[in-house]
Amino acid sequence: MSEITNLTAKEINAGLVSKKFKATEVMQAFLSQIESHDGELNAFISLNEKAMDQAQAVDQKLAKGEDIGILGGVPVAVKDMLCTNGLKTTAGSKMLENFIPPYSATVVNRLEKSGAIVIGKCNQDEFAMGSSNETSFFGNCKNPWNTEFVPGGSSGGSAAAVAARMAPISIGTDTGGSIRQPASFCGVVGVKPTYGRVSRYGIVAFASSLDQAGPLSRTIEDSSLVLESICGYDEFDSTTSKEKVESWSSSTENVSLKGLKVGLPKEYFQDSIDPDVEKAVESAKKNLESMGCEFVEVSIPHTKYSVPIYYIIATSEASSNLARYDGVRFGHRSNFSEKPAADLLDFYCRNRGEGFGAEVKRRISLGTFTLSSGYYDAYYNKACQVRNLLRQDFVSAFKQCDVILSPVTTTPAFKIGERISDPITMYKNDIFTTSTNLAGLPGLSLPTSLSKDGLPIGIQLTASHFEETKLLGVARALEKMTSFEGRPSNV
Ligand code: GLN
Repeated sequence: MSEITNLTAKEINAGLVSKKFKATEVMQAFLSQIESHDGELNAFISLNEKAMDQAQAVDQKLAKGEDIGILGGVPVAVKDMLCTNGLKTTAGSKMLENFIPPYSATVVNRLEKSGAIVIGKCNQDEFAMGSSNETSFFGNCKNPWNTEFVPGGSSGGSAAAVAARMAPISIGTDTGGSIRQPASFCGVVGVKPTYGRVSRYGIVAFASSLDQAGPLSRTIEDSSLVLESICGYDEFDSTTSKEKVESWSSSTENVSLKGLKVGLPKEYFQDSIDPDVEKAVESAKKNLESMGCEFVEVSIPHTKYSVPIYYIIATSEASSNLARYDGVRFGHRSNFSEKPAADLLDFYCRNRGEGFGAEVKRRISLGTFTLSSGYYDAYYNKACQVRNLLRQDFVSAFKQCDVILSPVTTTPAFKIGERISDPITMYKNDIFTTSTNLAGLPGLSLPTSLSKDGLPIGIQLTASHFEETKLLGVARALEKMTSFEGRPSNV
């Protein structure tokens, strides 16, 4: 039997249906992999103790000849931003260290309905604020390719888990790049769907107008399967769309790229980009060209504002969303029996002061400032206006092209500790990813090569709103041409 942990979700599901192996064997294989490697990698905050029982239930269904679903028996690792009924959900924060949700996020419910089994909850930057996983209260997750490097963030645990074969698929959230950037740093596929494709119900809110959950996996086909399962209208999230959810895992299989127009935004190639990243984009271009693609230069003139407006809008929304964590209904409560609160303000200050980490506090302060009277128009309102212009840039660009090709980040993964004390450098890392969220577009990262230091590099593809079929089709064709050998040597 081929090593189970190296199989894709699609292969696992097929192997179960054809009775090659059992769901309990599959679960055991991944749990053993976690046991061997997660001590060092720290990709999981907690594991689902019921995972084996749930695998057994899948085996019983199989024995009775029942349908197990498109993800039947497939372990899925879920970022700790998504509520899981009865299973601790921390958002990577001390604030929610002991929070056990009484219900599951729609995404989790839908995955389970498709037969997937939550294997555990993944490490992440605190409240998804970060690009390196170093802001997690539970210690930083490490990059499986080289443990001196960050796995990216904020969904670093979700990316590391898939790269290290501790789960075949995982779920991340992407507010400004948090699926695509760690996917690129860890050499896996990561897809951020169009805003409104995936319900945000039951997902800890960071910046509600930007947040979107999506899959990480080793193949475009697996991500497509997950998207089929999680996308679609949800009565519990009024921003979800009724747009048709396709069977992407089959409809994107053999897409012809002949005559397809690939846009290259001229503003994206002005920044100083690492030569290895440049090379990755160049070789993707060559491959696309050989399949019949044509290239057009497009312009996204407001690119230079994307990081500043992202950090105004995201922090403004975060300051409002995180107001609920005051230790009354939600969140950490200080030990008042030891030292009673002087007054109500002291009660709030102690709960929030102890519960939140430094980066979250910085963002709440920033966002409170940009929303405060006197500054609202100058910052928040202005940022929203520029966001509209940026969106318009993309709408015009997509009149000239089908997809946009770009780097995901300017460099491959950086070393742990290298940027954490320099927030501006850390924020600048989001230059190519934040605009996708601000404009509400679907985007993905596809691993294509390794840097000279042996670290993975992905390329980013972006499509117009609700054009996932095109996006995944192009990526799948490109994936076939690149044959990225995505296995870190020590896992
Ligand atoms: N790195 C970005 C930030 O720190 C993106 C985070 C995200 O997408 N959740 O905000």
